Amino acid sequence: MEIRRDTFWNISSDMQIWFYILAGVACLVFLYGFYRRFKLWNKGRREKVQWKNIKDNLKHFLKLAIRQTKLQKDKPVGLMHKMIAYGFAALFIGTVLVFIDEDFNLPILQGTFYLVYEFVLDIFGLLFLVGLIAFLIIRGGKFRKRMLQGKMDYLFLILFILIGIGGYVTEGIRLAESNLDYAQWSPVGYGLSRLFVKSKLFNIDTYWFWWLSHALLAFILIAIIPFTKLLHILTAPLNILISPVKRTGDFDAMVFLKGDHRDRIAVSNMYDFTNMQLMSTDACTECGRCDNVCPARLSGKDLAPRNIVMKIRDNMYENKAISSFISAEELKQCTNCAACVEACPVSINHIDLILAMRRGALPEELLNPHAEETLVNLDFDQNIWGSAWSEREAWAEGLNVQVLKKFKNTSKEA
Ligand code: SF4
Ligand code: SF4
Repeated sequence: MEIRRDTFWNISSDMQIWFYILAGVACLVFLYGFYRRFKLWNKGRREKVQWKNIKDNLKHFLKLAIRQTKLQKDKPVGLMHKMIAYGFAALFIGTVLVFIDEDFNLPILQGTFYLVYEFVLDIFGLLFLVGLIAFLIIRGGKFRKRMLQGKMDYLFLILFILIGIGGYVTEGIRLAESNLDYAQWSPVGYGLSRLFVKSKLFNIDTYWFWWLSHALLAFILIAIIPFTKLLHILTAPLNILISPVKRTGDFDAMVFLKGDHRDRIAVSNMYDFTNMQLMSTDACTECGRCDNVCPARLSGKDLAPRNIVMKIRDNMYENKAISSFISAEELKQCTNCAACVEACPVSINHIDLILAMRRGALPEELLNPHAEETLVNLDFDQNIWGSAWSEREAWAEGLNVQVLKKFKNTSKEA
């Protein structure tokens, strides 16, 4: 018996044509959506990718995107995310191989390679499904308070699960009906095929329906990726790879304001951010790890780093004034502790974003007049009261305020 993949098993040629038409439409919608987002990023100030740092970035990429080390701090969720990500990557590569085999007329899916291919994909597909179902349970059971409970989050998970199940159902019917002597190389599909023998719902006559619904769901997924937070599947690894590698606590260089004549450097409007900063907000998975460690948020203040990132991402369509969607209070409350940057699994640098916006809001909103006067006095006279430096201690006269004695360094090394 010849060992090879029969991609369009029991599918009429008319249906195959529709398959290609719909696949083309889904890819075009995807490309349009991605281009639309790409254009928005490029409305920001141009910042070039630092290719000279790419070696450092690759190390960073291996750690964060491949080994997913930051996600492993929450072990069950980290494991689940790895199962989904690795499963998704394997299924994607598997689909590309089918495409090459079928449409480029390069018969690679045959013989031993095909058997190994079937086995590997079956196992990774199973990991993908188990990870997704566990994720659904954790989200639905509200076992992680940091997770948002939007309807779309559930819909995405259900869509992925249905696609995974659809793949196994079509494989199970195919194996049940074609009696291949190498069917055991697809252990999950083979197990299902034993259940489908003599089934009224899963048989050669209903195969086209399961095959078509599986394909349609996959096309819907492809088309919606760039219009939803699923875009992070692409932008998260991209951001980890090309964003400047920074250690926690490093502050960004100043962000130059283009097109106006103020001598300050700041972000007052949306497109004062750099293209890389705008893109980085699209990498947000809304996981809430940053919120979980933010001292401002934990102490009940307005600031929540996830909200800052999401607000920039969701308002990117116009060159809006930052003050129209992020309050000066939120910006003021950041202590620059960098706990959010340290926690973020996709290398978003909240501090750079917040500091840039803070500069943009100074002095109009952030500083009250007294604070501004104090800073000016400090700058000119090193005395917050605005009088001479020699009178710095005058305010304490008669108040019995203890004054620290001057430190005398007696060490020999000095
Ligand atoms: S740097 Fe600012 S936003 Fe980030 S955790 Fe610290 S206080 Fe919160
Ligand atoms: S900014 Fe990072 S840590 Fe915060 S929600 Fe987004 S991905 Fe998660």
